[in-house]
Amino acid sequence: MTESKIIYSLRKENLNNYSKTYVPSRLLLGPGPSNAHPEVLKALSLNPIGHLDDAYLELMSDVQELLRYAWQCNNRVSLPMSGTGSAAMEASIANFIEEEETILIAKKGYFGDRLVDMASRYKANVVVIEKEWGEAFSLDEIKFEIEKNKPSIFAIVHAETSTGVLQPLDGIGEICRKNNCLFLVDAVTSLGAVKLLVDDWKIDLAYSCSQKGLSCPPGLSPFTMNNRAEEKLNKRKSKVPNWYLDLSLLNKYWGSDRVYHHTAPVNMNYAIREGLRLIANEGLENIWERHLRNSEKLCNGLIELGLELHVSEEFRLPTLTTVKIPPGVDGDLFRNHLLNEYGIEIGNGLGSLSGKIWRIGLMGYNSTDKNVDRLLNLFDTELKKFSIFRSAAF
Ligand SMILES: *Cc1c(COP(=O)(O)O)cnc(C)c1O
Repeated sequence: MTESKIIYSLRKENLNNYSKTYVPSRLLLGPGPSNAHPEVLKALSLNPIGHLDDAYLELMSDVQELLRYAWQCNNRVSLPMSGTGSAAMEASIANFIEEEETILIAKKGYFGDRLVDMASRYKANVVVIEKEWGEAFSLDEIKFEIEKNKPSIFAIVHAETSTGVLQPLDGIGEICRKNNCLFLVDAVTSLGAVKLLVDDWKIDLAYSCSQKGLSCPPGLSPFTMNNRAEEKLNKRKSKVPNWYLDLSLLNKYWGSDRVYHHTAPVNMNYAIREGLRLIANEGLENIWERHLRNSEKLCNGLIELGLELHVSEEFRLPTLTTVKIPPGVDGDLFRNHLLNEYGIEIGNGLGSLSGKIWRIGLMGYNSTDKNVDRLLNLFDTELKKFSIFRSAAF
């Protein structure tokens, strides 16, 4: 027998220095993740069962059906992919783009950039149209660019979490159909929180995540595609250049065959079933209304405190509010104060908005009247302490 040699010793020297896993209590009012619903956490803590167990297969069917409700679509293929939102985002590119095909990406924030990066890795001919971070595209602009560029896919982010803009989508689907192009929507910060009608708006492909509107931990990314998208997938000349995200293989597990592809993250699927069940229980229209009401209350409260919002009223996103950091305030110091003293997380600005705005999320379980009151109170009493102009309002 060869002698075993332990070559790595733990940094904390003594095993007793590793206490049981502990995390501080936080209220997550940033761009995500959001807090998980207590019932979701209960479901998550159940024992794993086999991913081909009949009981699990039934749970999968529930998840698919509940997802169709959340998406408001009849799509056969509606499933949660393993991985965070970016997994289904990458699947939407990897499966539907063949080399040299044109994808038109309407970019108005950080997540548009991610789509551009992914599409170029799959060797698409990427055409980008751009807007300032904080603005939305008009239907006419989109129509003009689709007719001019004749893409095989048009992609746009519905809820731009980096800027707080809600992009109107109604009407784009018709233009895509007339121009023989697939309509791809990033619904990561809108599914289960903001009005989204996949069939009615003629969206061919959409993806989301578990940790924002669905009140679950991060780890799954809901995806849906209709017959038009399936047709394009079936006509591919080349193999999907990504094994893990290959929808034709995944479909064999999530479709009627139920053939093993990769081990499902079983517990995360318990969690999403519960998150989706809670959504169906409350009813989508009530949920959309709740998110709208709480974000309006937050916006009005911030304005009353003398703060300025980054996005014009027409395009404000109910799940994420962007507010300008007042002159003379160090945004990071204030954020850290909220986190360290009150256990509340809010987000900073990304890219060119870094240091200029804070991002406040009210998503899923966290979109409550009480959370809005709590945060507005803290903005009222604490922000003064961080202004270099102490006597002035801000
Ligand atoms: C959060 C987010 C993503 C990425 O999702 P991950 O879960 O972080 O991988 C993509 N698009 C938008 C609009 C997002 O807000």
